[in-house]
Amino acid sequence: MSKKTVAVIGGGPAGMMAAISAAKAGHAVTLFEQNEKLGKKLFLTGKGRCNITNSAEIADFFLNIPRNSKFLYSALYGFTNADLLAYFDAHGLATKEERGGRVFPESDKSSDVIKALEAGLKEQGVIIRLRTHVDALTKPDKKFSLTAGGKSEKFDNVIIATGGVSYPSTGSDGKFFENVRAMGHTTTDFEPSLVSLKTEDTSERPTGLTLKNVGAEFYNDGRKVYSDFGELLFTHWGISGPVALSASAYYKNGGFKDAFVLLDLKPALDETKLENRILREIGENPNKDFSNLMRTLLPSSLVPHFMDRISFPPETKGNAITVENRREIVSLLKHYRLNIVGKRSMAEAIITRGGVSVKEVNPSTMESKKIPGLYFAGEMIDVDALTGGFNLQIAFSTGYLAGQLL
Ligand SMILES: Cc1cc2nc3c(=O)[nH]c(=O)nc-3n(C[C@H](O)[C@H](O)[C@H](O)COP(=O)(O)OP(=O)(O)OC[C@H]3O[C@@H](n4cnc5c(N)ncnc54)[C@H](O)[C@@H]3O)c2cc1C
Repeated sequence: MSKKTVAVIGGGPAGMMAAISAAKAGHAVTLFEQNEKLGKKLFLTGKGRCNITNSAEIADFFLNIPRNSKFLYSALYGFTNADLLAYFDAHGLATKEERGGRVFPESDKSSDVIKALEAGLKEQGVIIRLRTHVDALTKPDKKFSLTAGGKSEKFDNVIIATGGVSYPSTGSDGKFFENVRAMGHTTTDFEPSLVSLKTEDTSERPTGLTLKNVGAEFYNDGRKVYSDFGELLFTHWGISGPVALSASAYYKNGGFKDAFVLLDLKPALDETKLENRILREIGENPNKDFSNLMRTLLPSSLVPHFMDRISFPPETKGNAITVENRREIVSLLKHYRLNIVGKRSMAEAIITRGGVSVKEVNPSTMESKKIPGLYFAGEMIDVDALTGGFNLQIAFSTGYLAGQLL
C-alpha cells in the first residue's frame, strides 16, 4: 500500500484511534483538535472513571444499540472489546470489570485512558495539532483541501471524527456538520439520548435518593418501550441513573404520549414472597405504625412518598392492616408509577442521536459513499447505544476501521 497523507479532524476517542490505526497502517497522519488537549469529553466519561467498554459478547452489543445496529457489524467485529483491551494492556492501562460487564481503568481515572491513547499516537509518530480548529474542508480535485488557522493544506485522505452536538463545552459543538452537509452529505435530526427524564409532580420525589436494584418498565402511547434492571436516581426534575438514561433512548422529543415508568421496588421478591415478608414484619411488630414498618422494606426517604399514595393512614398499626391493605402495598411496591413528561436538554445528554446518515457511509470501511477518500468515525455518525461502555467501543471500533483506509 502506498503511503498517504491523512488528516484526522477531532481528537476524541474516535479520532485518536483512527489516527493510531492509520499511522500503524503506514500512513503519514496529522490529528487536528481545536481544544488545548485531547479527549476533553473522554475525560468526563463515567463520572471521571471512564467506562471504556463492555465485556459482553459482541453479538450482545447489538441488543444495546437501539437503531442502525447492523451498520456497526464490520466495525465491532473488526476491532472488538477484546482488541481494545489488548491495546490498553499493551499501553500500560490495567482495567477491571464491574457490574453489568462495565469495564473501567483499574485506577478509576479517565486521564489514564487518555494517556494510553496519547502513548499510541506518539509511538506511531502521529503529528498532533492542538488548539487548531479546522475551519473548512473541501475536495476541489483528487486531494482534500483543509483550512485551519488561516492556512490551507492538502491531504490524500480525511477522517472526520468531530463528535455529536451534546456537551458542547467539550468541543463537540456540532458546527462541523455544516461543512459535512456542504460536501453533499445528509444529517438526520438530532435528539438528546442517554439523558435524564422529567417526571410529573415534583412534590412526589425523594430527590437525591439512588435505588441500586430496581426493576423498571417504561411505556409510551400504550406500548412497553423498554425494560431494565439496575440503578435509578431521583433528581429535582425526575429520574436519572443508568436505567433512566438508557430508557431515554426510546423516547422522542415531541413524542411523549401517556408516558410512564412502573418501578418494581422489590425485584428480588415475587408478590407472594413480598406479602409473606410484610406479614412477618407485622407479626414481629404488631403495634408499630405501618409507615415505620415500611422502613424495613424501603429507604426511609422514599417512605413518606410511598405512604402518600396509600389509601389508609400511615399511622395505622401493623395489626390493623387488612388483607386489602396488604395487597395494595404489594401492588404499589411492584408497580410504582411515575409519569414521564419529557427529556432534559441536549446540553446535558451523554450522547447525540442523529448525525451523518448511515445510508451514505460504507459500513465495511466507514468511507463516504459520496466523496471517495473521506471517512467518518464516532458519534458524528447516526449511531448511538445504551449506557454500559457501548458508545465508547463504537467510537474506538469505527475509528479503528476508518483508519484502515480500506
Ligand atoms: C458526561 C458524559 C459521560 C459519558 N460517559 C461515557 C461512558 O462512561 N462510557 C461510554 O461508552 N460513553 C460515555 N459517554 C459518551 C462518549 O463520551 C462519546 O460516545 C464519545 O466521546 C464520542 O467520541 P467521538 O470521538 O466520536 O467524539 P468526541 O469525544 O465528542 O470528540 C470530538 C472532538 O472533535 C473536536 N472537534 C470538533 N470540531 C472540530 C473542528 N472543527 N476542528 C478541530 N477539532 C474539532 C472536539 O473538540 C472534540 O474533542 C459519555 C458522554 C458524556 C457527555
